[in-house]
Amino acid sequence: MLVHIEDIISKAQAGDYAIGAFNTQNLEITLGIIRGAVAQHSPIIIQISETTIKYASLKAITHVVTTLAKNESTNVPIALHLDHGSNFLSVTECISAGFSSIHIDGSKLPFDENVNLTKQSVEYAHDRNTWAQGEVGTILGKEGLVKKEKNLIKPDEYMTDPEQAADFVQRTNVDTLAVSIGNMHGIFAGQEHLDLKRLKAIREKVKLPLVLHGASGVDAKEVAEAIKLGVKIINIDTDLRWAFTNSLRQTLQANPTETDPRQILSPSIDAIQELVEKHVKIFGSAGKS
Ligand SMILES: [Zn+2]
Repeated sequence: MLVHIEDIISKAQAGDYAIGAFNTQNLEITLGIIRGAVAQHSPIIIQISETTIKYASLKAITHVVTTLAKNESTNVPIALHLDHGSNFLSVTECISAGFSSIHIDGSKLPFDENVNLTKQSVEYAHDRNTWAQGEVGTILGKEGLVKKEKNLIKPDEYMTDPEQAADFVQRTNVDTLAVSIGNMHGIFAGQEHLDLKRLKAIREKVKLPLVLHGASGVDAKEVAEAIKLGVKIINIDTDLRWAFTNSLRQTLQANPTETDPRQILSPSIDAIQELVEKHVKIFGSAGKS
């Protein structure tokens, strides 16, 4: 069932688990995500990026997610969220389309400009019963700075500063906060380690649900520690893309004469489902719906 994000996150705040926020791009990925959530009785967030809106159109992809959420998961709560909204217009369009939560990402802007853009988005969102996620600190990886730069800059130059995070929350009134604590967009196995000390310092100053982006390559044990320290939403995107496309490649190679798209795409849906089931077990949200 489609619910407001508050229904899911307020329960997670009171519990000792986090909610997976899974990116979808099309019908098949959405089916896999929802089947995974249903199989594990786990509440989830399904999120859509601006690139996906460009690819599939806002109305179409919104209808795919909301229709499947209503019909395929009658007992499992699903909330719809905009991932990495880059401007105010995106925010307003997604709120009009029925999203219960939006992310306004001004993290690449100078701090004061980030505050202004976020504040404007939060006020607009709250007037329309919608939650807003802000972001302080730069998340490295494909959407942020490039991988090789990681060794050239010091953590204090890009990771979330606890004092600044508290100031940001107070000035913008966001509902959730995305932090940069060593997490990276993409999968950089073995290179991603969370700065749990920094997370603890942020937690002491910010009591809101914290959001971990780029968690695809992070070790499960570190994820579990982060959940104990206040991470309540964990974004998963790259892992899903890999599962989908790897499965598709294998299927096509094994069946070079198959011409039925349903036959070709079904194993990819199964691969997404399997991955979502694995993640929600790690996050502790399995069985919570
Ligand atoms: Zn992100």
